[in-house]
Amino acid sequence: MTDDKKRHKYCPECGTRLDIGDKFCSDCGAPTGSQRPNMEHGSFRPTSNSNASPGITLGVLSILAGWFIPLLGLILAIPGAVYSERAIKYDENPGLGLTGGALSIIGAVISIIAWVYWAGAL
Ligand SMILES: [Zn+2]
Repeated sequence: MTDDKKRHKYCPECGTRLDIGDKFCSDCGAPTGSQRPNMEHGSFRPTSNSNASPGITLGVLSILAGWFIPLLGLILAIPGAVYSERAIKYDENPGLGLTGGALSIIGAVISIIAWVYWAGAL
C-alpha cells in the first residue's frame, strides 16, 4: 500500500514503524530527523545601506571641505571611495555605491585642484 508509506516511516535506529509526525522513536527514543530546522541561507546580509550611505556622506563632505581644506577633502574622499567600493562589491546598493564613488572622486579632484590653487596663491 503506497498510502501506508505516506503516513509512516521507520526509525533509523531500530526500524520501528512510526507516524510521519513523530520526532522521536516511540520505541528507542532516537530522533527521527524529520524536524529539520529551516536555516535560511542568503539572509546573511548587513543592513542594506551600511556601506553606501557613509560612502555618499563622505563623498559629499569631501567635495564641500575639499575646496577650503584640501587635505581634509582628500582624507574624507579616500574612505568615501572605500565604502562605496564595498557597497558595490557586496551588492548592497550598487546604485548608491556608484554615486558615492563618483562623489568621492569628485571630492578628491576638487581637493587636488584646490591644493594646487592655494599653493600657487601663496
Ligand atoms: Zn527506534
